[in-house]
Amino acid sequence: MSVVDPSKAAFGTALAPEMAVAQYRDGRWHPSSIVPVAPFEIHPAAHVFHYGSSCFEGFKAFRQPDGRVCAFRIDRHVERLRQSARILAIPEPDAEQVSSMILEVIRRGSSVTPERPGALYLRPVLFGTMANIGAASVPSAEATLIVLASPVWDYFAGGQRPLRILVEERNARCAAHLGMVKTGANYAAALGFTLAAKREHGVDQVLFCPEGSVQETGASNFLLIREGHILTRGLDSTFLHGVTRDSLLQIARDTGYRVEERLFDVGEMLDWVRTGEAALAGTAAVLSSVGTLIRDGQEHRVGDGEIGPVTRRLREALSAVQYGETPDGRGWRRAP
Ligand SMILES: *Cc1c(COP(=O)(O)O)cnc(C)c1O
Repeated sequence: MSVVDPSKAAFGTALAPEMAVAQYRDGRWHPSSIVPVAPFEIHPAAHVFHYGSSCFEGFKAFRQPDGRVCAFRIDRHVERLRQSARILAIPEPDAEQVSSMILEVIRRGSSVTPERPGALYLRPVLFGTMANIGAASVPSAEATLIVLASPVWDYFAGGQRPLRILVEERNARCAAHLGMVKTGANYAAALGFTLAAKREHGVDQVLFCPEGSVQETGASNFLLIREGHILTRGLDSTFLHGVTRDSLLQIARDTGYRVEERLFDVGEMLDWVRTGEAALAGTAAVLSSVGTLIRDGQEHRVGDGEIGPVTRRLREALSAVQYGETPDGRGWRRAP
């Protein structure tokens, strides 16, 4: 992995040269410091290696027309990291400390932040470092929080194309009580199903619909969209509460859309997509059109199979707020 690749590296492969680090020991979080991005020492018996005590966040800071680089909805991401830590019994850092670490990393990463359509992707990661392989049913009494930054360029550099998605009704993405937790374990749990789906059906992603109830994909929320109307699963503990999802729903509501947040099943989804649109929502790709759904080996075209015009408009509306091209009436942008 290189540090700041000036060529337009693939998402996540380039890093800003500095990161923030803080440690929890002796019952408290110690002041953070800024250090060069480099390998560091960690005990082989660290809790995270054996008992999976880790969680992370992912979000972006965007270069504004005036040149500043502003974080998008940093407070929500800090709170979600703290929630993940609580649910996994990892020492929980103060919101204030996490925010100031992130803002300092943005300040220092500002010079390597690409212009639109690029951004500075922020990746806080928190993990248990207590050295004790007998601590299977004990929380880690020590932890480290790191904030990495990664300059990202155009996610759709190769051109945007509608996604192929497999509808998975038998297997779950993750353990039921970890749905709201942003943890590597959930990605590991979904990876085997996703790899099999790619191999067997040539799809991009898997849409998990346990017992027929539509949930989300391995790393994105799922939205059904048509002119003036959005349908998506209501918040519950089974899936990750995406900030992109929330932002799109607020923008849609404010522009007069009817936004339905409720349970719906695969049958209703297939009915919707005969004339409507479907898309995946998440920080990395913002909002990506789904062109085809595959269920039980049968392909269902979403609308005309191309990128949906309503999806495109919603995505543009959110990007405009993120890049500071429209007023920020909701306090979503934060200068470091
Ligand atoms: C991170 C993530 C999302 C998207 O969340 P955003 O806050 O919109 O980036 C959706 N689903 C899963 C499983 C995730 O890990």
